[in-house]
Amino acid sequence: MLVTLAAIVAASRAPRAATPGPVPFALNDVRLLDGPFLDAQKRDTAYLLSLQPDRMLHNFRANAGLEPTAPVYGGWESEEPWVGIRCHGHTLGHYLSAASLMYASTGDERMKQRVDYIVAELRACQTAARNGLVCAFPDGVAQLENAIAGRPFVGVPWYTKHKVFAGLRDANQYAASSSALDVLTQLAAWTAASVAPMSGEQLQRMLRTEHGGMNEVLADVAALTGDSAYLELARRFSHEALLTPLAEGRDPLDGLHANTQIPKVIGFQRIAGLSGDERYRRAARFFWQTVVEGRSFVTGGHGDNEHFFPPADFARHLGSAKTMETCGTHNMLRLTRMLWQEEPSATYFDYFERALYNGILASQDPESGMMTYFQATRPGYVRLFHTPERSFWCCTGTGMENHAKYGDSIYFKSPAALWVNLFIPSVVTWTEIGMTLRQTTSFPETPVTHLAVSIARPPVRATLHIRRPAWCSQMTVRVNGRRWAAAVSAAGYVGIDRAWRDGDRIEVTLPMTLRAEPLPGASDVIAFLYGPIVLAGRLGQQGLAAGNQIIVNERESGSMLKADVEIPVLAGDVPGLLKRIRRDPHAPVTFRTAGVGRPRDVELAPYYRLAHERYNLYWKVAPG
Ligand SMILES: [Zn+2]
Repeated sequence: MLVTLAAIVAASRAPRAATPGPVPFALNDVRLLDGPFLDAQKRDTAYLLSLQPDRMLHNFRANAGLEPTAPVYGGWESEEPWVGIRCHGHTLGHYLSAASLMYASTGDERMKQRVDYIVAELRACQTAARNGLVCAFPDGVAQLENAIAGRPFVGVPWYTKHKVFAGLRDANQYAASSSALDVLTQLAAWTAASVAPMSGEQLQRMLRTEHGGMNEVLADVAALTGDSAYLELARRFSHEALLTPLAEGRDPLDGLHANTQIPKVIGFQRIAGLSGDERYRRAARFFWQTVVEGRSFVTGGHGDNEHFFPPADFARHLGSAKTMETCGTHNMLRLTRMLWQEEPSATYFDYFERALYNGILASQDPESGMMTYFQATRPGYVRLFHTPERSFWCCTGTGMENHAKYGDSIYFKSPAALWVNLFIPSVVTWTEIGMTLRQTTSFPETPVTHLAVSIARPPVRATLHIRRPAWCSQMTVRVNGRRWAAAVSAAGYVGIDRAWRDGDRIEVTLPMTLRAEPLPGASDVIAFLYGPIVLAGRLGQQGLAAGNQIIVNERESGSMLKADVEIPVLAGDVPGLLKRIRRDPHAPVTFRTAGVGRPRDVELAPYYRLAHERYNLYWKVAPG
């Protein structure tokens, strides 16, 4: 049965509040201004331009019976010991997403050309293959067929296919490629036909193996094509072994592979958004709450060796160099912004902001532009970054996307309101009402941000909702120099409802304080924050040299660059310690303990900046 998207959406909205929720601005309505996020975006652009589409297309062409035009890349794309994971081609999918996002974020035509080139190539492969499928596995369709037939199969073929689906979706959504939607629709049709003979039980058995966000992307296909059969298929691809307990408020996550679960839950929320299904919605919210409130480190990252562990065991995992997989944070942010759109509470953005600075911005090497896999909580360890052409991890792929979309969550809008969720220098154009908002700030180095209003045809009546972060009890808002007295709403925003005129100015001051947070389950182990910024101890550069934090093989994280680094213990109780940590007047967001470090004091600086230093995140506190 073919129904229109409007009908799907109307049906999904029917039992809910009539007021439409906020929606994101199109990425091309937001432009970053000077600051660390723009710097990261520029480095990502350079990396994307350094990669050659023909090399990523090698195996796709080979499987379609076409002559490859360039040699295949290394790492997860072709080399041992990774052939058995069957991630061949995942990079092309991520790249297509990243280039599409980057085109929307910057207008850089070189990105659009690459998107169009890759889509045309995939289309040629699809035409040559004749069955609708495009894939880059060394044994072609064999593992997908094994999985569908219920036979043993090698690796994670559906995980990899999801990246190609998502890349095509993003090429359509962010780079206006109609051809991408054609290729995507045929891929989805291949999927629907292939799994049609499977019983629900057989399909659920297949879903025990990591399959990315297949349910999400099939729901997206339903939304993009208006064909509700794909929404039904998205439900079939929803893993009941996770959905059922989460929807019932039970936490089954101990011991589960973290980044296998998060994309499934993103899919649950997507299906809930399109269908109105409360069971899927409850599962997504409960999952978010469980992970954010009970299973995350201070940076917003989670997990050890890619797995969730019992929350009582945090202290035991602190010494690991394989904590906090960057993909996990990437996907938690995707889920967070989806949940916020349905329930615009500042609480979601308290997590988003924290994970964005301390997990995502922290994940990119400011020198090489390469990105992290794990971010180690091991005291005295360092960040490790991928190689340009020999790694191609999952986190390389999500990493390409991370720094291409910083503009996607700073601002949201509804017909008569605009939300400012993040304090990132940027300009947003609100086309519908003819308003441009320019945010200038050096936050977090200074606790203030300025918003300048430009309006073509004043006055314009609208409400600007400024997020009041949980870490900031004393936020003040001034409009044209005068204090705006509105109280903070229950959702955590200060609303400024007025008739706006060209040249109006808003000043938001966000006083930050130093505070400590305990490690979950260990009140004598603490981390320090200043506002949303996690502070780490600077422990020197022992054993570090130019370029030696770049590794090919993520499995060697923790075994290289080991060093015997002395980690000070802090003497005293927490309130006393906070009084003995002094701000460095000469360096932004930098502090020093004064007489409480044993055997020595330590300098604390933003974790996201310590790319080439040994660091420590959590401190053992001992009675003084
Ligand atoms: Zn990863």
